[in-house]
Amino acid sequence: MEKLELSGHSLARKLAIQSPSPEQRCDVNWANPNNSQLWVKRDDLLHPIISGNKWRKLKYALAMALSQSTTHIISFGGGYSNHLHALGYCCYQLGIQFTAIVRGNYQQNLTPMLQDLVQWQSDIQYVDKATYQRRNDADYLSSLEQRYPQAQIIAEGGSQHSALQGVAEIISELQQEYDYILLPVASGGTLAGLIQSTNSSQLIGIAVLKGKGYLESLVQQLLNGDQQCQWQILHDFHHGGYAKSSTELSDFCRNFSHFPIESVYSGKLLFAAKQLLAQGYFAANSKVLLIHTGGLQTNRD
Ligand SMILES: *Cc1c(COP(=O)(O)O)cnc(C)c1O
Repeated sequence: MEKLELSGHSLARKLAIQSPSPEQRCDVNWANPNNSQLWVKRDDLLHPIISGNKWRKLKYALAMALSQSTTHIISFGGGYSNHLHALGYCCYQLGIQFTAIVRGNYQQNLTPMLQDLVQWQSDIQYVDKATYQRRNDADYLSSLEQRYPQAQIIAEGGSQHSALQGVAEIISELQQEYDYILLPVASGGTLAGLIQSTNSSQLIGIAVLKGKGYLESLVQQLLNGDQQCQWQILHDFHHGGYAKSSTELSDFCRNFSHFPIESVYSGKLLFAAKQLLAQGYFAANSKVLLIHTGGLQTNRD
């Protein structure tokens, strides 16, 4: 364990990760009948390219890859994926071959994210929806293993058990205690890592997609029954589904000027926080921390 921590540390230095990320008072002027204090953990500032929570989730998987001299990594995502973007860049910097299995047919029309992967010499394989759906199936994964016997396969979003240790470092960096911690949730790895490492705060996940029941089960699977704190996922703030928006959300994101956000994750988180504050959702005078998980590369088109 200690050895892995050391290699995680040297990996962070090699990639110029700026940790700890800032923990700032969020001085917004919103309706706040219960007088809650709002703070934000700026994981969007960990690195200009490697998206915040993707670094947290990939740190120990990459440290392990380096310690085992892995030469090839394979993972999965959509055409705008922050995970593929972060991992593609890390692999390029570390001299590891990267294969991105991408859902959808973007060959003729590369997104800015895919253009970056091309620049970073990733091998991109486009698959249809049906194939992509098999990304966690044992028989599909073993066919990949047979085809690429040297490769390490990393789950979609980097949400696998090894992610939890890196995410826990968000908590160990904190300068003070909070009554509530809020974060966006898509594949559950970040929430699971926080649940496992927090015992004094209530954790509130904001679902960014339609996934009532499903998201909770993803988190439970990653936790293996290991949980210390109260947690829940709120499902009223996805604005129609993953990467979908509403006029209200778009207006909110456009007018928000305290720090950069985007509309897929951090915008939905901040919008939810604003509504929860207005409803008096949090106990009187409580301290509320928002995790800014990054993802600003999707703001490009
Ligand atoms: C991937 C991502 C998330 C979702 O994290 P999960 O661990 O998949 O729930 C949140 N915010 C940003 C910016 C992301 O890129």
